[in-house]
Amino acid sequence: MKNLIQPFILLLLIVSCTPQKESRSNIDELAIDYVKLTLEIAAHDPWYWDDYYGPDSLKFTGVILDTFPKEDFLNRASSLKLELDEISKSPISLEDEKLRANWMSAQLTAVDRGIRLYSGEFGTFDEEAEDLIGVKVQSYDSTYFIEAIAELNTVLPGEGTFKERFDALISRFEVPEEKLDTCLKVAIEAVRKITLERLDLPEDESITIEFVHDKWWNAFVLPLDPYQTLLQINLDYKWDIAELINIACHECYPGHHTYGAMQAKNIYVDKGWVEILDPENPWGGPQIVIEEGLAIYANEMAFPGESYDKFAKEVIMPLAGLDTTGAYAYLLVKRFARRKLRNALTEAARGFVNGTMTENEATHWVNDFALRGSAINTVMNDRTYIAHYTCGRDLVKNYIEAHSSSDDERWEAYGKLLSTLVVPKDLVKEE
Ligand SMILES: [Zn+2]
Repeated sequence: MKNLIQPFILLLLIVSCTPQKESRSNIDELAIDYVKLTLEIAAHDPWYWDDYYGPDSLKFTGVILDTFPKEDFLNRASSLKLELDEISKSPISLEDEKLRANWMSAQLTAVDRGIRLYSGEFGTFDEEAEDLIGVKVQSYDSTYFIEAIAELNTVLPGEGTFKERFDALISRFEVPEEKLDTCLKVAIEAVRKITLERLDLPEDESITIEFVHDKWWNAFVLPLDPYQTLLQINLDYKWDIAELINIACHECYPGHHTYGAMQAKNIYVDKGWVEILDPENPWGGPQIVIEEGLAIYANEMAFPGESYDKFAKEVIMPLAGLDTTGAYAYLLVKRFARRKLRNALTEAARGFVNGTMTENEATHWVNDFALRGSAINTVMNDRTYIAHYTCGRDLVKNYIEAHSSSDDERWEAYGKLLSTLVVPKDLVKEE
């Protein structure tokens, strides 16, 4: 009896003492390393947006060096990525492990590019976009926009130049400042109701609205905790009806607030996957492409077909005390600008980054092709960042349309993108 037991004990000892390596390749530990590394980089790069809400144990508590430790960060990002890529390729990895490893690996490619950009090492627009966005950003020549503007020209009412008639039409549908609060709350409540009928949001989610002045953005969402969001609205911005409805969808339901709450609930709380706690890379990245893509597409989710115009004309315009005469042309023009002309912003950024457009030329594209002067700062200062919006919206739209033939299926596809780890490449692959 004794002789039989001894080898068994020995075998147990061998198994339990084996590999250091096995625990090192554990995906949970790699996720912790990923969050710790990104929080440390964020502590050294003041442009990082840190809305971390995870355990204190992952926070960076070391010394912030006077000189940005570029090479050290690059080396650590690269070796972590190698370990993750091993998991992605391994035939014995589970599907969830591969999903997580792929996701973190794609973020680390963007982190690597961000470290280089912060250190003043620039590339071409396409080189930077390939690392940050992860897919090729489609390009459009000026003919595309000249033809689009000519088409729009035929529906713009009134006298004067194209720009004068465009501006005059938009200003007729501006929301008076004293009506902004009511209109916004009604719009948010409407899209919240639509979203709650379709998606399973955490019960205690909510949004607080705050009106502010002197900001370079028109609206901003600040997560107070995973399920509570502060929405700041810039009163210096001229809010027209469509912008107001769009911001309710983009920032709140089923856009950013919904994304944040569902990611936190479904990925962090339910599964314990810490990687989504990573701070926001200021240069962009795959996660931002998906999040902004979903947020821009949010109004098409909440108001498919003619329901957008109906809601604008029958609910928000009367509430704002506006005459609905000319509403058809206004809504058509806004939709056209939103869906078709937005890509002119990407081209302006591409030209500016590549040095093939002067500042004046890029401004011309932003003002006269995109009809969106308020985007000039992002185009001029944020290199490929604007493409996260334009490319993200197109990826999300194409993915949802390819995976749905009914409204139920559209929400199912949209909900899936809100609740799992996905990178832009996955959407292209599945098209
Ligand atoms: Zn956004």
